[in-house]
Amino acid sequence: MPETVTLLIEPVPADARDVDLASTLREVDAAAPALRVGELSTQRGDGVFETLAVIDGHAQETGPHLDRLRNSAVICELPEPNLAQWRAAIDRAVASLPDRGQWALKLVLSRGVEHGPAPTAWLHASRAADFSAVRERGVAVVTLDRGYAHDAAEHAPWLLLGAKTLSYATNMAALREARRRGADDTIFVSSDGYVMEGPTSSVILRHGDVFSTPAPSGAILHGTTQQSLFEHLAATGRATEYRDIPIAELGTADALWLVSSVRLAVGVTRLDGASVSYDAAETREFNDYLLSPRD
Ligand code: PLP
Repeated sequence: MPETVTLLIEPVPADARDVDLASTLREVDAAAPALRVGELSTQRGDGVFETLAVIDGHAQETGPHLDRLRNSAVICELPEPNLAQWRAAIDRAVASLPDRGQWALKLVLSRGVEHGPAPTAWLHASRAADFSAVRERGVAVVTLDRGYAHDAAEHAPWLLLGAKTLSYATNMAALREARRRGADDTIFVSSDGYVMEGPTSSVILRHGDVFSTPAPSGAILHGTTQQSLFEHLAATGRATEYRDIPIAELGTADALWLVSSVRLAVGVTRLDGASVSYDAAETREFNDYLLSPRD
């Protein structure tokens, strides 16, 4: 069984019917050259992506990830993806992976080659890092200013906030800054004083019995893991809410988590150097749910 699977995808229009989808997918060796130097994804980060987990042979939350891929494409004015084609690519990749273990499956839709006629698309699956220890131990976090107001998406749509674009250099810079400050991760805050998200995760707070997360105003990515966990919390009788969350509430929360598709839920144990109460059993319950097959 392979450790990676890479498929080049020849995008077909969103409304194409009666296409032999299998013939639009070509498996390639991940170590062999596959992209042209004129690719706008590599030159400008001009494209969108999704990362979803495959757990013991099950692709998690495929529908929500594909819906977000389409939404990101719309925000970036890329051709709308044909979701049946992407589903076929995911199914093919999953079928060739071992049926035990955790995998990160990345979907990329790029604007393509400069002056080229069509977008470029591919899927790459590789073994996920082992996050079991950090899920138990939690993370130390610092808050960092993201440099714009929490409602920036409304007046500056060209920032493409709310789209999962390939331009993650600033997110990676924020993680390096966190490490320089002796922490593991970051919670971005807006210039007008609200909690936003992590560079690769959504933020969930608990005050008493109520779980909250920043309202998906378009300035942050609406996380598939957060939505799935909120469904689970609601189904098990717990209160959840979306709202604008002032930064000060991070300090008064009874518990804080960062959640994302592959690392899943990690508890925050320190915030800007101060300790945060952390319930390992509650985090374990979240991860038991998140590790179960979800659609
Ligand atoms: N916010 C940002 C900026 C992200 O990059 C991610 C995931 O990579 C998330 C939130 C969490 O999204 P999801 O739960 O769908 O992985």
